[in-house]
Amino acid sequence: MTFNDMGVISPILKALQEEGYTQPTPIQEQAIPVILSQNDILGCAQTGTGKTAAFAIPILQLLQAQKDAGDTNTGIKVLILTPTRELAIQIGESFVAYGRHLKLKHAVIFGGVSQFHQVEALRKGIDIVIATPGRLLDLMNQRFVHLNSLTTFVLDEADRMLDMGFVMDVKRIITKLPVRRQTLFFSATMPPIIQQLANSILSNPVMVKV
Ligand code: AMP
Repeated sequence: MTFNDMGVISPILKALQEEGYTQPTPIQEQAIPVILSQNDILGCAQTGTGKTAAFAIPILQLLQAQKDAGDTNTGIKVLILTPTRELAIQIGESFVAYGRHLKLKHAVIFGGVSQFHQVEALRKGIDIVIATPGRLLDLMNQRFVHLNSLTTFVLDEADRMLDMGFVMDVKRIITKLPVRRQTLFFSATMPPIIQQLANSILSNPVMVKV
């Protein structure tokens, strides 16, 4: 199976070639077609498996398809929640890399720094927000972030969210999301409490495990 076989569009294929990706990793082979067909995913995968590209590639492609269909909505369409600033930055860099031949806009939001530049970025009309939970909630409470146009929600490293004490924040954010949406849930481990959280936010998910 190649990225081309999976129906990945040419501007993304070109970017992947430039990154030196010759073939999909197992998680990408399993997840990309499922996400492109707009199903929910319950993904059990560690960092290092190519998990980020497994969700970033189809998300970019679905967003581009919406734009090509004439959608001019400037609201946030995709939210990716991740537990740490480092992961948020890394995911942002992946979106830059795979999306370099598209014109989609993303913002990376995390705590521990001034919110000024993050708020400025949000004012510009952002397609994709990559965020840690605390700062995102803070900006939502200040009405700088509106999630009513959201179509896709990614919860990355759910087990680490739990370990770091972010589950209440995550749950609070989820209550503000449109109910009709695509949800992609990733965790390296699936203890019962994570399984319960997954069951409560996913609808008919396809299980993907590497
Ligand atoms: P991740 O699991 O998302 O943290 O990715 C781990 C590393 O694998 C990153 O440095 C990616 O750039 C790289 N990577 C992801 N997908 C591929 C691929 N299909 N071929 C080669 N490298 C990849």
